[in-house]
Amino acid sequence: MRYVRIEVKGIVQGVGFRPFIYRLATKHKILGRVSNNTRGVEILACGKDSDMNGFIDAIKSKAPPQALIEELSVGEIDPFHASSFEIASSRTDGEKEVLISPDLATCTKCVSEIFDSSNRRYRYPFTNCTNCGPRFTIIKDTPYDRPNTSMAKFKMCADCEREYNDPADRRFHAQPNACPSCGPHLLLVDREGRIIEGDPITMTANLLDSGKIVAIKGLGGFHLACDASSREVVAELRGRKQRFGKPFAVMVRDIGEAKRCCKVSPEAEEILNSPRRPIVLLPEKEGSIFSKEVAPGLSHQGVFLPYTPVHHLIMKEVSVPLVMTSGNVSSEPICIDNDEAIERLSGIADFFLLHNRDILVRYDDSVVHLFKGKEYPVRRARGYAPYPLRVQPPSKKTILAFGPELKNTFCILRGEQAFLSQHIGDMETAYELEHFEEALASIKRLFSLEPEIAVHDLHPDYLTTQLARESGLPCVGVQHHHAHIASCIADNLLEGEVLGVAWDGTGYGDDGTIWGGEFLKANLSSFERLAHLYTYPMPGGDAAIFRIYRIVAGVLFELSGRDLEKTAGLLNRLFRIDEKEIEAINFQISSGFNCPLSSSSGRAFDAVAALVGLRSEAVYDGQAACELEAISFDCREYYNFEIDDSKEPFVVDTRPIFDGVLSDVFNSVDAGEISSRFHETMARLIIETCLKLAEDTGLKRVALSGGVFQNIRLLTRVFEGLEEKGLKPYVHRRVPANDGGISLGQAMVAASISSCE
Ligand code: ZN
Ligand code: ZN
Ligand code: FE
Repeated sequence: MRYVRIEVKGIVQGVGFRPFIYRLATKHKILGRVSNNTRGVEILACGKDSDMNGFIDAIKSKAPPQALIEELSVGEIDPFHASSFEIASSRTDGEKEVLISPDLATCTKCVSEIFDSSNRRYRYPFTNCTNCGPRFTIIKDTPYDRPNTSMAKFKMCADCEREYNDPADRRFHAQPNACPSCGPHLLLVDREGRIIEGDPITMTANLLDSGKIVAIKGLGGFHLACDASSREVVAELRGRKQRFGKPFAVMVRDIGEAKRCCKVSPEAEEILNSPRRPIVLLPEKEGSIFSKEVAPGLSHQGVFLPYTPVHHLIMKEVSVPLVMTSGNVSSEPICIDNDEAIERLSGIADFFLLHNRDILVRYDDSVVHLFKGKEYPVRRARGYAPYPLRVQPPSKKTILAFGPELKNTFCILRGEQAFLSQHIGDMETAYELEHFEEALASIKRLFSLEPEIAVHDLHPDYLTTQLARESGLPCVGVQHHHAHIASCIADNLLEGEVLGVAWDGTGYGDDGTIWGGEFLKANLSSFERLAHLYTYPMPGGDAAIFRIYRIVAGVLFELSGRDLEKTAGLLNRLFRIDEKEIEAINFQISSGFNCPLSSSSGRAFDAVAALVGLRSEAVYDGQAACELEAISFDCREYYNFEIDDSKEPFVVDTRPIFDGVLSDVFNSVDAGEISSRFHETMARLIIETCLKLAEDTGLKRVALSGGVFQNIRLLTRVFEGLEEKGLKPYVHRRVPANDGGISLGQAMVAASISSCE
């Protein structure tokens, strides 16, 4: 006989792991017990040598589909007495290392139950099992057991109790297990909170079909839903939400409906169907029934499939695809509470589909793009966060990186696990600060994380910089673009030094200028700026992100040989701008007051979008650049540029590019043509600069990071071009290339610096 203690770490709670062990033990004639603790799952087992080996092997090879074993250790122990194999209750002592699976989309078995009229869960909107359902959105504390969740207030009925206690049942120890007689319920109310009689699902579907806007309480917060095929209805939602221009995501009934509206590759289909169910950005098809109001001016459409029973039930009854956008007031985080939603969304939604299971943590939907057939993250939240990312080398200290100002996430790095928070949003208002603090408290509590070092951006005015300074921890400042490249290094588990192309909108440089078109030599602890794009004045600083004709003004100033009069003349010829505004621009450029120099690549895309007539003002950061990408096509023509290597760092002179664009504009060349040439030019510029730097440094690996690389046309061309020239490009795969991935890089840099000390 052999007596062993087996410890399993990873995602082993809330995924049917103990019942799996129970069944396995019975099959292999093993006696003892299995329990959850704060580190994972512990098994005390006794059995014959041969049985034991088979048992241990099967734990690894036959684990449940949603489980993820990160570590399995076996140790011999003293003999103990056991007459059966049982599932013992959880233990809560010890340091918390257990990993909980993220929230999972309703599984196919549960879906078929809710559509089976003979099943006791027929049309029950809170159906789940150990393979699916809510996790992080209902959890207060670990271990992941019912009393520690927002299901605690629902007492299971006899039938549910039986399932919960039956090791052979799919719902054995499914913490949110519930049914119509004992679990949460839906309630449909109007703006005044008056209850609407009738079946809440059917009524909601009817309201949506008749053009109403309904706030629907989901997994990680409220959605605002409406008919995605109707221009009037979507425009009405935009008006009420004060959200103009920004694309909305659309929920479609099934993969067939997705394919009727968008081009869905087999890889995209797999991601759409995955238990994580992110919003997937897909090229829209000609003749799609989505209204043009849904994603104005963009070539890709954010599409996702139902991921809760409520979604499945509604989508089955409604006759159109639905806009499903975060239920928030512009620039506030997503609502999670019934009263909060009615209070804050009553100016937007006509009706509210509520339920009485509390959402404990806010989670937005995740968004992914596809690059080379694989996931390329854009926004990481539901289904992904805060499941830790494995990184290397392990950090000796626990580090809290506060992240950037926009598209904020934070990251706590402990050992080789990086707990990247869900998408928080733009850290500019008290509401977002609250969301940040809630999420930080919950991640610290769930994983017993005690940060020792705080990390912040170099920008002195960022709210996150202030938070880090006020945290009472020793602080490390990390340059924005170094953080981008470090994030890409960590994302790809690279070691040593790489060339980094950090291209984005804006980031605080270490020389008082705004950076954003950077070529770095970097490892985790340090970086050197080897080259950057030519710098242009950016009159008004951040204001120019939205008034992009101001970016153009800065460019024209440089093209005209720094002649203010010529600049104003050209500006007038291109855009209709009032006198006062021109005066302000002139003053800022000539005096340098609130007029930083910027090497931003994102702003260069904005400027070209403005020059070709797409828009001279933007509603959201990057809007013009996205629209410029949307009208581009494959092209091998390009504009001239020069790499000036007499300077240190090298300056890539983009003035000839703008000269070319301007002359094409004045010659009435088609906007799509200009955009395509410009894309090809920027790709060539990156490839040639990297080649030159590779020759100088001997480095062959190139990390591509920053929001500009969300531009798939540019990314594809750069990636293939670098490979052609014998360099090895790396792109983000686990965290976004945009500022959503910054906190990971910040944490890695601080870990590397602190371990050198
Ligand atoms: Zn299920
Ligand atoms: Zn029940
Ligand atoms: Fe950035």
